[in-house]
Amino acid sequence: MNHERSRELYDRALSVMPGGVNSSVRAAPRPYPFFVERGDGAHVVDADGNRYLDYAMGYGPLLLGHDMPESVQSAVQSYASAGPMYGAPTEVEVDLAEFVARHVPSVEMIRFVNSGTEATVSAVRLARGYTGNDKVVVMQGGYHGAQETTLVEGEPGHVHPSTNGIPESFAEHTVPVPFNDHEAITEVFEEHGDEIACVLTEPILGNNGIVLPVEGYHEHLRDLCDDHDALLVFDEVITGFRVGGLGCAQSRFGVTPDVTTFGKIVGGGFPVGAIGGKTEILEHFTPAGDVFQSGTFSGHPVTMAAGLATLEFCAEEDVYDHVNALGDRLREGLTEVVADRAPEYTVVGTDSMFKVVFTRADSGPQSECCAAGCTQDAACERFGECPKNGADVGNAETDRWERLFWPAMKEEGVFLTPNQFESQFVSYAHTEADIDRTIEAYERCL
Ligand SMILES: *Cc1c(COP(=O)(O)O)cnc(C)c1O
Repeated sequence: MNHERSRELYDRALSVMPGGVNSSVRAAPRPYPFFVERGDGAHVVDADGNRYLDYAMGYGPLLLGHDMPESVQSAVQSYASAGPMYGAPTEVEVDLAEFVARHVPSVEMIRFVNSGTEATVSAVRLARGYTGNDKVVVMQGGYHGAQETTLVEGEPGHVHPSTNGIPESFAEHTVPVPFNDHEAITEVFEEHGDEIACVLTEPILGNNGIVLPVEGYHEHLRDLCDDHDALLVFDEVITGFRVGGLGCAQSRFGVTPDVTTFGKIVGGGFPVGAIGGKTEILEHFTPAGDVFQSGTFSGHPVTMAAGLATLEFCAEEDVYDHVNALGDRLREGLTEVVADRAPEYTVVGTDSMFKVVFTRADSGPQSECCAAGCTQDAACERFGECPKNGADVGNAETDRWERLFWPAMKEEGVFLTPNQFESQFVSYAHTEADIDRTIEAYERCL
């Protein structure tokens, strides 16, 4: 593959943009990223004309693939040409708010913002303002965007910012616990129960392998929060309108959080975030209440129109059936490949999310019960070995994944997210033939 033009562009980018990119993860491909010229269904075409089958899908927003359905395209064009935004409310914001409230169990009211990060920042402020408490419990290996409260590492009692630029004092209020560990979080509540504003967690760790909850974990979080008047906040930025269809992951697990954050798919491919929840809580946001929240671009009409048209398309067409069936086919195929070539590895994912985590332990044959990806089934022979939290995924062979496997797949014309941790996505534009080709590529590269 020739990457001459991408190399030139990267060279220029390095002079004017830190690391040559506007979001850190984009710089990860070695020795440099390919620059994308355009999308085409399930594919992207780079600046040198190379064509890749795309499973990064914008890191999550592009449920439908790269081609907007006609209804989305015409909504975007008509709102853009009417004048892109106003600083006054518009009908389409109300339409999208009503749509989300109708479909997502926890949502009675919603505030739209411009990114997933902004959504989780605002949700944390809301939880603190509503409860009067400062502490926020998060999951080790969870991701909530580039926000000060959640960019921490360590154990309860020994928590530090995970990046320069954040005062140590910020981390004092954050309590990271291992996902899927009933005891660890019970202890935190025993010690700090009356200081906790919220438990903030992804319903599925979606930025750290793909880790599903073990039986009863979310119910346990719900009970702890209820017993201590803390809020349960589900960060559904990545799972929202992907896992569990239009009801989101909370409908899949049957546990209703107090507050939900959204992003990615709900903007139909445009910058978006949102905070939804019970009226009684959401009305604490200004101007209804006294927790300040505001934004010049919030509820941007073009984004709202794209989001609404996208979700309406999903409601009317067989989108979830299609992507979830392809997800199953892919995970089943990968499980067979892994059984044959690297039985220590674990296929993870659900619905249209998937990854092969290069786990190190070999616990014997791949199991029947997790044929379409690890489900954290306690009856499974591999239950003890499959990744259950951030540390387990961190212990995988990340170097092999990134230095050998990713580049080999790229040479096969398959664009995966360029590290061990980020999820990959099947879109509505993918076909069974694409999936079968992908399984063959994995077979050659693993
Ligand atoms: C992507 C993501 C975010 C951050 O969203 P941005 O739009 O990148 O700011 C937050 N939480 C989760 C779970 C995400 O997947």
